Amino acid sequence: MTSTNPFFAPSTLPFRLPDFAAIRPEHYAPAFDRGMAEQLAEIAAITGCGEALTFDNTVVALERSGRLLERARVVFANQTSADSSPRTEELDAEYQPRFAAHEDAILLDRELFARIDALYADRADLGLDPESLRLLERVHTDFTRAGARLSPDEQRRLREFNAELATLETSFEQNLMADTRARALVLDSAEELAGLSPDAIAAAAENARTLGYDGRWVLSLKLFSNQSELAWLTDRSVRERLLTASLGRGEDVNRDLVVRIATARAERAALLGLPSHAAYVLQNRTAGTTGAVEDFLGRLVPLAVASARAEAEQLTAAVEDGGELAPWDWKFYAEKVRAAEHDIDEAALRPYFELERVLRDGVFHAAGEVYGLRITEREDLTAYHPDARVFEVRQEDGTPVGLFLGDYYARASKRGGAWMNSLVDQSHLFDERPVVVNNLNIAKPPAGEPTLLTIDEVRTLFHEFGHALHGLLSDVRYPSFSGTSVMQDVVEFPSQVNEMWLARPEILSRYAVHHVTGEPLAAEVVERLMRARRSGEGFRTVEYLAATLLDWAWHSIGADTDPGDPLAFEAAALESAGLALELIPPRYRTTYFAHVFAGAYSAGYYSYIWSEVLDADMVEWFEGNGRTVRESGELFREGLLSRGGSVDMMDAYRAVVGQDPRIEPLLARRGLLT
Ligand SMILES: [Zn+2]
Repeated sequence: MTSTNPFFAPSTLPFRLPDFAAIRPEHYAPAFDRGMAEQLAEIAAITGCGEALTFDNTVVALERSGRLLERARVVFANQTSADSSPRTEELDAEYQPRFAAHEDAILLDRELFARIDALYADRADLGLDPESLRLLERVHTDFTRAGARLSPDEQRRLREFNAELATLETSFEQNLMADTRARALVLDSAEELAGLSPDAIAAAAENARTLGYDGRWVLSLKLFSNQSELAWLTDRSVRERLLTASLGRGEDVNRDLVVRIATARAERAALLGLPSHAAYVLQNRTAGTTGAVEDFLGRLVPLAVASARAEAEQLTAAVEDGGELAPWDWKFYAEKVRAAEHDIDEAALRPYFELERVLRDGVFHAAGEVYGLRITEREDLTAYHPDARVFEVRQEDGTPVGLFLGDYYARASKRGGAWMNSLVDQSHLFDERPVVVNNLNIAKPPAGEPTLLTIDEVRTLFHEFGHALHGLLSDVRYPSFSGTSVMQDVVEFPSQVNEMWLARPEILSRYAVHHVTGEPLAAEVVERLMRARRSGEGFRTVEYLAATLLDWAWHSIGADTDPGDPLAFEAAALESAGLALELIPPRYRTTYFAHVFAGAYSAGYYSYIWSEVLDADMVEWFEGNGRTVRESGELFREGLLSRGGSVDMMDAYRAVVGQDPRIEPLLARRGLLT
């Protein structure tokens, strides 16, 4: 089998697309094992190198190491999120702690750090180009933050924390996936689904069949606290049951885990001489200090709460029979008020948003208008699942750019939400072009029927393709800086900017066309739709900020703090942030907040709105700078998108726009200007 393991040699397919047709689950473990051993041998060759110390024989050699492991890990990460199985979940649980230990073995290698430290001390005299200098600084920071300066005994404790956290985080995610499945709402009669579209009711029946509840209807839980069906279900008790199931996720299975995760992170920060995990995280963010984040959030909270209170009054007035507004009523009445105020029925617009058309004439067309890209499907290339499609991206003059994989449909083996993955990072060091993936969770229609989207799904398509563009348009030397490898609190900025094209009349008029009659969506309807989109910003900002402040509270604790009962901790944190609004639960509650307890967003959930400051300001620049879309697109691409992590994003921003990002465009967009 060793000779046939497709990970052992670089792929020979176009753009080094992984050879998915050949990859089997049994290939992962041998590739991981050999990949880790190979990288350790490469590190030993660096530290044992007899020649004089140079940037090339140390930092670049480190950048070149671990190729086999990387090839296997990116494919595995893609599979565990987009098409997992009990087999891959088992492997994930087994290997996450081993990967953490492997990374520690490199980052805590004393001889390796001594070389990096010596180069760092001399960095001004090495004659390095700016990108190489930044790589040296980045590597030095990574090693220091990982504990390279600690004593051997402290380093041993650090390794224990890292291994323990890797295991806990994997358990959190797996518990949550199981509990989310278990809490799906099973309904006995179609009447209980009244208010949902016929498609949604059919999908619930199909879902029931798949899950072994023949003849019934199942609403599976999606990521956020507020489930999308709450806007439509007319039976109040069903709404209550659905929201209650959603809010209870993880309560029984993840309670102890979150306390230990937060405490272990705080203890690890203390070992590194820092007051909290948040302080540790902020060492590697554009925000810089915990104070900067707290000031920023503190400015937004009262504006958002005031706006949400005004919305609550409006909704209460709309409740039939003068009844009380409950949390499970919010989305339902918000939808009614919005429909009445803006005379718009979003469900009736779905025939105008057909997936193929939105992709080709919307998302891809916009990338052509703004960046001169041409995107065509490569039916001859195989992805990792029959629903995932492969597209080739070229510049208008035919120059190859990379491959784009689109995997749009929901399935039981896929985690919730939408995201972008990189399978091959662009770099000149390896002369490689990018291969990136977008994943969404659109309900798959019955065979032969078109996929009709909501406006939210259209927005998600543009958003995720913004991340894909960040990867595709990358033009850097070192893979560590490729595409979306920027500081995390600005990684959402390019994807948010890409959402602007969805509503531009010249783009929208091409893709928003009735899939049967061919009639374009009237400009006046579009305008009303965009106005309607802006209603409810108070609610959305509050539920988001509540989750953000929860994340922040859990990661601001010191090593000697006992958080106590996690649900009581959560209630107290929301109270002290001024966000304990009975009617608006946080977008995520603690026990199902996978972004921060299982994912990479710990002390980082603030990033979305931090990025949005740049996004809103950049959109104004695009609209008001007097250049054509194509000229602006080139400047944005040259100065920002293509630079990835090789430059400081704030410097790059100022270089393109000519000034610091202003917060006012964000406040105006969210209706929070007072
Ligand atoms: Zn995003």
